[in-house]
Amino acid sequence: MAHRADTAAGSAAAPPLSDGFGRRFPYLRLSLTEACNFSCSYCLPDGYQADGRPRFLALDEIGRLVRAFAALGMHKIRLTGGEPSLRKDLDAIIETVAAVPGIRKVAITTNGTQLPRRLPGWHRAGLTALNVSMDSLQRDRFKAITGHDRLPEILQGLQMAQALELPSVKLNAVLLRGLNDDELPQWMDFLRERPVSIRFIELMRTGDNEAYFERHHLRADVIIAQLLAAGWSERPRGADAGPAREFGHPGHRGTVGIIAPYARDFCAGCNRLRVTARGDLRLCLFGEFGVPLRPLLQSDDDFDALLARITTQLGLKAAGHGLHRGQTGLIPHLASIGG
Ligand code: SAM
Ligand code: SF4
Repeated sequence: MAHRADTAAGSAAAPPLSDGFGRRFPYLRLSLTEACNFSCSYCLPDGYQADGRPRFLALDEIGRLVRAFAALGMHKIRLTGGEPSLRKDLDAIIETVAAVPGIRKVAITTNGTQLPRRLPGWHRAGLTALNVSMDSLQRDRFKAITGHDRLPEILQGLQMAQALELPSVKLNAVLLRGLNDDELPQWMDFLRERPVSIRFIELMRTGDNEAYFERHHLRADVIIAQLLAAGWSERPRGADAGPAREFGHPGHRGTVGIIAPYARDFCAGCNRLRVTARGDLRLCLFGEFGVPLRPLLQSDDDFDALLARITTQLGLKAAGHGLHRGQTGLIPHLASIGG
């Protein structure tokens, strides 16, 4: 495993960045690519279409970026996309990020198709947390939603993650009315003996999926009511907790998380910033503007200017998104920014 970054210098790092609303940002979601090998019906229904624009951030740019955020007190980096496992240099990226002083958690969000082949390498490189997207436990439905019949190998990868005893393994399922909203009993069986967390995510409206959203959006309250009726109860929120509400049950080793971006106060718990695969800082998933950091990622000499650009921009982070008003911001779909 790569050397951990809990050096004296790392643990004495600055307190997390904060904004004008008292929110703290210990957590960066870094997109490594916009490309994807899936065609999820709510995200990239026609698959990824390359547009011939500039290449995605390179390893040395990623190293400089993460060193800057760590110097500003960030301690967790999530690698996402598009599909981050399509990056051939992913082992080296994980190793570089994990070695930055101050970085304590290196997480990835993936569709899981590469797990059987590549998870041991990511683990050796220093990966500490794995989120795998799995919208259905039923093979035919999984294929219908993602466009690919790959559920068996994803389940195999999950077993491998448990054998490797990764500190955190979570699953993501987007709640889709009429497509997967009757599977809670099956998920409960799945969680009985498995110490994983399944996060049900409410479908979000993006620039490209308006009609789909109208057809398939389902409020997470429906699932919460079913959990409570089955004897599950809400767990107290940790200090560093993200936007998920967690539910547990004494008869199950696994837990259920609910991510409901349309809920009141969702943005008050925001603890993350985002950087796109082309190096734009995004203060909000649904924000109206990006701040180019890439010009300051070309040389170590620009380190101070990079810190200054990030901290100045944070002052502009809004209190909340405008999703309720139908404002989806810049993004056509989540693959373009990292969900
Ligand atoms: N390709 C990887 C994956 O699917 O895990 C990482 C990128 S994907 C954009 C990150 C997460 O966003 C996935 O869990 C995906 O299901 C979720 N997602 C994508 N579009 C969404 C939408 N419109 N609403 C809610 N979640 C969405
Ligand atoms: Fe690809 Fe993830 Fe979007 Fe599915 S949700 S199309 S796997 S980026």
